[in-house]
Amino acid sequence: MPNRVDPYDAEISPADLRPAKVDIPRIEKAVREILTAVGEDPDREGLLKTPNRVARAWAEMIAGLQEEPQRHLKTVFTEQYDEVVLLRDIEFHSLCEHHLLPFTGKAHVAYLPNGKVVGLSKLARLVEGFARRPQVQERLTTQIADALMESLEPIGAACVIEATHSCMTMRGAKKHGCTMVTSALRGCFKDDARSRSEILSLIRPGNNQQ
Ligand SMILES: [Zn+2]
Repeated sequence: MPNRVDPYDAEISPADLRPAKVDIPRIEKAVREILTAVGEDPDREGLLKTPNRVARAWAEMIAGLQEEPQRHLKTVFTEQYDEVVLLRDIEFHSLCEHHLLPFTGKAHVAYLPNGKVVGLSKLARLVEGFARRPQVQERLTTQIADALMESLEPIGAACVIEATHSCMTMRGAKKHGCTMVTSALRGCFKDDARSRSEILSLIRPGNNQQ
């Protein structure tokens, strides 16, 4: 019996991942070390609880590290739908692994089904699972597209991500407002010029009009 749960009625906002199990006292110790190293007094009132707050923030920010995001694509629905499925503007927060500073933005995820479709909320969870860990934007983009190819065996898959990186806006080049755009195209979106230009014009990175 095919599963007739409506794949589209689930909410599409990313799931709240449970905080990861991390060694809280060890992070607290490290944060005290950093504070001391920069000449601060970790025992002054304002900083007393900081090491613990930072440790708990980390457990949330890397919550995706202890899950296998592809598991969200296990429940598929058989559907003869041969047009593009696109979920735009999936907000995410990730952590640049080079500077351990946040980068945040939007992911646009699309696939051209080959008989298998998945609930929209699952696409958002997939993004969230890969985002909540030390990452680089390029890898985040390819991991999402590759997971779709592997699990749904679609005719094509695409992921376009636009994000701003704190490590670039707060330090270094201090380029405010600039966005990094990465794309990973698979299957027909990679091999066929017409499908590629179609999907990219549907995604229209940088265009926030719905
Ligand atoms: Zn960085």
